Amino acid sequence: LREWDRRYLWHPFTQMQEWEQEEPLVIERGKGSYLIDTEGRRYLDGTSSIWVNLHGHRHPVLDRALKGQIDKIAHSTLLGLSNPPAILLARELIKVAPPGLSRVFYSDDGSTAVEVALKMAVQYWRQRHPDAGPKSMFLRLKLAYHGDTIGAVSVGNIELFHARFKPLLFPTLEAEPPSCYRCPLGLTYPSCKTACLEPIERILQTRHRDLAGFIVEPLIQAAAGMIIQPPGYLARLRELCTRYNVLLIADEVATGFGRTGKMFACEHDGVTPDLMAVSKGLTGGYLPLAATLTTDEIYRAFLGRYEEFKTFFHGHSYTGNPLGCAVALANLEVFRRQQVLRSLGPKISLLQKLLASLAGMPSVGDIRQQGLMAGIELVQDKMTKEPYPPPARIGHRVATAARARGLLIRPLGNVVVLVPPLSVSREELTRMVEIVRESIDTLSA
Ligand code: PMP
Repeated sequence: LREWDRRYLWHPFTQMQEWEQEEPLVIERGKGSYLIDTEGRRYLDGTSSIWVNLHGHRHPVLDRALKGQIDKIAHSTLLGLSNPPAILLARELIKVAPPGLSRVFYSDDGSTAVEVALKMAVQYWRQRHPDAGPKSMFLRLKLAYHGDTIGAVSVGNIELFHARFKPLLFPTLEAEPPSCYRCPLGLTYPSCKTACLEPIERILQTRHRDLAGFIVEPLIQAAAGMIIQPPGYLARLRELCTRYNVLLIADEVATGFGRTGKMFACEHDGVTPDLMAVSKGLTGGYLPLAATLTTDEIYRAFLGRYEEFKTFFHGHSYTGNPLGCAVALANLEVFRRQQVLRSLGPKISLLQKLLASLAGMPSVGDIRQQGLMAGIELVQDKMTKEPYPPPARIGHRVATAARARGLLIRPLGNVVVLVPPLSVSREELTRMVEIVRESIDTLSA
């Protein structure tokens, strides 16, 4: 298998090619927080299989839901037909979503959920408020990541993803995100009174006629290296978007489903966005499925006689796939039955304590944690916060050392990212951070 993997597979970002120089890992099975490879070796899944898994691998309730649905039907279209899991899941999603979101549009992955939100926003303004201005542009934060399809890359801003595709991307307006560790304004929270929002207000004030929406990863810009927005930031963004008539689009693809300690990150600031994209944890990490949630106000703009062409021209072949929806339904059932959100408090505190014990290490610059999402930024100089120069690939070196010790973690530049499943035990969490410590230690060896 390893040989054929090398020969036939093209892995995302081709990064496996590099890892293969050590030895490719072929994962065959999983159980709880562990992944098990074809050699029978066990690895702690410190990435939750790229931030999707919530309740551990092979959860009996999710397994049963999937098997039960297979006995009925694997797929039928949502175009002109419906199916029980899609209907029931939409109803349950609306129950747990921030209040005011009332409609669910399914798609297949995080990128498409974002694309759907962008298209809905533009079409909404045309149909509902044609005099409000062209309103077809988006405001986005620097270092944003919203997925890999062309629209999602357009509203993203990670240079590596962006640079080569510039001719294909549509123009956006850009705002500086908060970055409390290296505040560009030289201020500290809370005395800064989130002064970083002032330039954003100016953009909204002057360009609102051009802007359909402001897209943000609420609370955490995860792929940028777990950049955390201070409390109150999101609520102010909501106020500003409302004041200037710009839709707030929350990309909860990474932060949704308990990852930040609440069901959705928006809840930390009591915010209801106009459009919300979810995926990743939606099926508990079992199947690709995504949804864009929105309000009645937006949905109503798409109603009308067919000849008026108000309809939303978007629909994927696997939209509302019954297998995915059945597992997602079971995922929400696990949240309810096992009181998952309530169980998170002690784990989040433990992770905080464990991470704090790394703070004294010479190369540990900033430790950022929100819920069970954490990033450790490694720096060349702790005092000056001087980053390691880009080719150093420090995060990658730490992740490689961790893998040799039985832990899979994700490097993001100079940031080592730990995102364990919500079901992680205290012992597993402790072991994960212990391995992270040993692996960071190898940098000075
Ligand atoms: N938005 C955010 C915030 C993400 O973190 C990701 C994936 N890491 C995406 C969108 C894209 O999701 P997908 O990879 O499922 O297309």
